[in-house]
Amino acid sequence: MCIFCEIIKGNIPSSKIYEDDNYLAILDISQTTYGHTLVMPKKHYDNFLQMPENEAGELMSLVNTLANKIVSKLDAKGCNILINTNEVAGQSVLHTHVHIIPRYDLNDTVSFSFKENKFDLNEILNKINN
Ligand code: AMP
Ligand code: ZN
Repeated sequence: MCIFCEIIKGNIPSSKIYEDDNYLAILDISQTTYGHTLVMPKKHYDNFLQMPENEAGELMSLVNTLANKIVSKLDAKGCNILINTNEVAGQSVLHTHVHIIPRYDLNDTVSFSFKENKFDLNEILNKINN
């Protein structure tokens, strides 16, 4: 059984910030920033892309609610909402989860950089839309 299924079953302790019949939100053990949270469905899907659209939508709706609560209660200035999907994208636990990473300062420990485009946009559009 995967580590998040073990947490959901209560076999491994966690710091729960929200729980209902279908979803669980816990503090990430790494606390990349103060209040770093993981929101997950209780039903095991290896990753977000495997979820049925309605369940993915429900999960993201809960993420919206919890991110607003976390940012407000912890007095953050914003947050990153992140889903790593598959190893190539940095997913290390193969049970769908959404990171809520509160942000307090431009110089904190989290950084993403978007590089200058070197691709042909029309080629990409054709591949996606055809
Ligand atoms: P990802 O790399 O997107 O798969 O994220 C997995 C996250 O799970 C990492 O940020 C870990 O710090 C976190 N994590 C791993 N084990 C635990 C645990 N037992 N309790 C809380 N968070 C965990
Ligand atoms: Zn699982």
